[in-house]
Amino acid sequence: MPREGLVESFEAVVVGGGPGGCLAAIGLARLGMRVAIVDRGPLGRDKCCGHCLHPSALRLLARQDLLEPILAVASGETVEVASHDLLGRRSASVPLKFEGVSGGLQVSRDRLDRRLWELACAEGVEGVRPAAATLEAIDGDHATLRIDPSGDSGAEPRRWRAPLVVAADGLGSGIARQAGLAGRVAAGRGFGFAAKLLDAEAVVEALAIKPGLIQGLTGPGGCLGLVCEQPTDGPIQVHAAALVRPGAESRSPQGFVRSMLGAFGGAEIRLKSTLAAGPMPWRPQLVAKGPIALVGDAAGYSSPITGEGMLRAFESAIGLVEAVEQHRGWTADAAAVHLIRHRRVAWANRRVAFVERAWLSTELFAIGCGVMRVAQHLPNAPRKRFERLVVGWVRGR
Ligand SMILES: Cc1cc2nc3c(=O)[nH]c(=O)nc-3n(C[C@H](O)[C@H](O)[C@H](O)COP(=O)(O)OP(=O)(O)OC[C@H]3O[C@@H](n4cnc5c(N)ncnc54)[C@H](O)[C@@H]3O)c2cc1C
Repeated sequence: MPREGLVESFEAVVVGGGPGGCLAAIGLARLGMRVAIVDRGPLGRDKCCGHCLHPSALRLLARQDLLEPILAVASGETVEVASHDLLGRRSASVPLKFEGVSGGLQVSRDRLDRRLWELACAEGVEGVRPAAATLEAIDGDHATLRIDPSGDSGAEPRRWRAPLVVAADGLGSGIARQAGLAGRVAAGRGFGFAAKLLDAEAVVEALAIKPGLIQGLTGPGGCLGLVCEQPTDGPIQVHAAALVRPGAESRSPQGFVRSMLGAFGGAEIRLKSTLAAGPMPWRPQLVAKGPIALVGDAAGYSSPITGEGMLRAFESAIGLVEAVEQHRGWTADAAAVHLIRHRRVAWANRRVAFVERAWLSTELFAIGCGVMRVAQHLPNAPRKRFERLVVGWVRGR
């Protein structure tokens, strides 16, 4: 047990060192606040993700003066999205990058999250990891967290107390549940996973996968996204991220990937570095209560289908920081502003949830694929206008 009296005081404490937590910590530290951040994973831990940063996330990072260091850890640009229909035909191939409009970025989460953590620490944030945070008490307008170091560090548990605890601890947020912000129906039964594909040469050839392309596939059990990297000194590496429906026939990641890629020569594919995420969907009842504020996935699920999760995590963290700045601290008015700003993020998440439903509905997906196939035969100018419309909608603009 942490010794009584050893309670460290901060102006804000952030739980979770993902994109949401790090952006919140950086923003609050830049306001001059004394901030601490904790993550239960070691520095450089990977995260279940498609590793694609949405183009709008790049604009947001640029406004925070954070784009340069992120570009330095990216492995490439994403310039095109392609999708196959249920019969295995390529039905849509839409450019993400146009003249004067940038594409997205491909960046692995171990590198991205490590960089963001380092940037937070460089702003003066006290960072502790690997260590798990639990909400111990809420007394009046302050909360106390217990910080339990893990691994072989042998470090003693600590207690942190602050008038603002930012829970950026992801889907199924433990802090949200401990603070009573999530009801019994907050969590669904779907899940996602990400993995590297081994023996994927046949699939790469059949689907014409290449660096810069985000390749989507849909089947009755869910959908699969593939991106690849071409190292200078080895074979092409394919990274897969999937959304698995509740009740899907093959719920093991390997079985799911094999069933999705079997027709493309992927019947024997093996996976490595598999990571899962859930519960999906996840929607807490409140995003702020007393000293606790939720940001990122902890505040509500953003479907991975359009690769906007990190963008939404950045937006909600920046919204929280602006609320604190506007009201010079975490006051009831600041909480109200956070709530209003969160509604915008929640609306964007609803749009993406609609895309997810359409994508996973056999009928709607077939109609969408048909429209996209017909559009490929339009003359150049109207086809480009149509593609821009689709991309604009996917980008949420
Ligand atoms: C299959 C899949 C593919 C995806 N693909 C993309 C994509 O290509 N592009 C995109 O933008 N988004 C994608 N997403 C969504 C994206 O991963 C999330 O939206 C994003 O990571 C949310 O960031 P966050 O900071 O809110 O939470 P997270 O990134 O989940 O970070 C939460 C952190 O909290 C820590 N934590 C949890 N509990 C505790 C605790 N008690 N104490 C201390 N630390 C704790 C965890 O270790 C973790 O580091 C995908 C999601 C899935 C499931």
